Amino acid sequence: MSYPASRLYIDGQFVEGRSAQRVQVRNPADGSVLAEYAGAGPADLQAALDAAGRGFASWSRQLPLERFRVITRATALLRERAAAIAHVLTLEQGKPLPEALREVQLAADIIDFLAEEAKRLAARGVPPRLPGVASQTVLRVPVGPVAAFTPWNFPANLPARKLGGALAAGCSVIIKPDEQVAATCLEMARAFHDAGLPKGALGVVMGNPAEISSTLIASPVIAKVSFTGSVPVGKQLGELAARHMKRYTAELGGHAPVIVCGDADIAAAVKLAVQAKFRNAGQVCASPVRFLVQRARLDEFRAGFVAGAQALVLGNGLAEGTQVGPLIHERRCTQMQVLVDDALEHGAELLCGGQRLARPGWFYPPTIIEDAPPECMLQQQEPFGPIGLLDAFDTLDEAITRANALPYGLAAYGFTRDLATAHRLSQELQAGMVGINHFGISQPETPFGGIKDSGYGHESGLEGLLGCTEIKLVSVALS
Ligand code: NAD
Repeated sequence: MSYPASRLYIDGQFVEGRSAQRVQVRNPADGSVLAEYAGAGPADLQAALDAAGRGFASWSRQLPLERFRVITRATALLRERAAAIAHVLTLEQGKPLPEALREVQLAADIIDFLAEEAKRLAARGVPPRLPGVASQTVLRVPVGPVAAFTPWNFPANLPARKLGGALAAGCSVIIKPDEQVAATCLEMARAFHDAGLPKGALGVVMGNPAEISSTLIASPVIAKVSFTGSVPVGKQLGELAARHMKRYTAELGGHAPVIVCGDADIAAAVKLAVQAKFRNAGQVCASPVRFLVQRARLDEFRAGFVAGAQALVLGNGLAEGTQVGPLIHERRCTQMQVLVDDALEHGAELLCGGQRLARPGWFYPPTIIEDAPPECMLQQQEPFGPIGLLDAFDTLDEAITRANALPYGLAAYGFTRDLATAHRLSQELQAGMVGINHFGISQPETPFGGIKDSGYGHESGLEGLLGCTEIKLVSVALS
């Protein structure tokens, strides 16, 4: 499949945007222009909102079983078209093709799980206390039309969480995918369209992010806002949502610590660490960043981690054998260099990588830095790229204190074979998700979400569905 022309999807039709502002999409692997398209203008946004209002009225009235049938027809189409969609995903995002393919298949699994759970959303009966009241029923009803905003690192999975939750719950949804990776999201919309989703139940708009979010969030049509992206933008949209009393879910950044205890299986920890750190070139919000290793095992961990990082094959995601693709933008490469240079100026030691590759595209190599002092940028700011920090610790108390020192609280990991230590880590690490002896904390069936500055609310799992519902009490007295 060649790279498709990007149009907006409004009221059941793929249409040209009416904004004078155009979006240019470039292939991160070589910098070439993949496409150019017109963004959404005010009239497009109003049309999308009007359609979402009508779409909610029709979609929310369908029986859950009917909604389930439409949604699973769409996921069957996604699976049928997975190879073609994965190709588009790699072209616009850069990740290796096998990873893109897994992502599209997983997107179908995420949506399926949410649709399955929606069939089981049972009401709860509460015994009445007033004489004459026959029943008190606590219902879960769809929250209403949702405005969803997704970033560029997982062009299929992140829309899957938001569209899956909203549509399974009976909500209509307008999604603004990141402008660079909108073609993947539009292919997902096409699958829903072809599966018979009613007009207006789903809209896809791109253009000027701030203009789109402020228009959608302020509209009385929208009942809920869901954002995945950086902490500053997440806080900004949270303020807007609060001003208009809109429900809000925020999946923001992280700076995940990994505590590797002296009793851990170091070989296994190293192998998993190399995979987890450099997957998607580190552009993952739950990516491990701060590796804290008990001093006695540091040499062993360092040797394996650096050798593993250096052995990774960098290249165009479409080329066979590529394990790490490019970063998404030129500006992300520049930012990696700023962070690394700042750490080195503060006296940190560079173990590998650390210099942008001199080739077309936005390639930054796997980079590991040891002994970066706490005051340098890398120890405080989410790198969101292929950079791992290595530090020694002496006592578990010290490691936990350091792990919890940042305002982020998305994911945290620990490696140990001691049951008491594992229990302590799972209790005391301040994060929405804790992985012990592995990094696989993001699954279709489990809730994904953070605490502290990493946001609030959940996606995926039963909790992801509940986040798209509202509670309604119905109390009936016999007249
Ligand atoms: P950015 O903050 O400019 O953009 C991140 C995403 O937010 C983009 O998709 C963008 O279109 C969107 N966005 C920006 N302003 C918006 C607004 N006012 N309204 C609605 N959407 C808006 O950053 P970037 O340079 O593209 O990415 C780098 C940073 O983004 C990283 O440092 C990382 O923290 C964060 N990020 C986080 C995640 C995540 O999953 N938590 C994913 C991607 C990026």
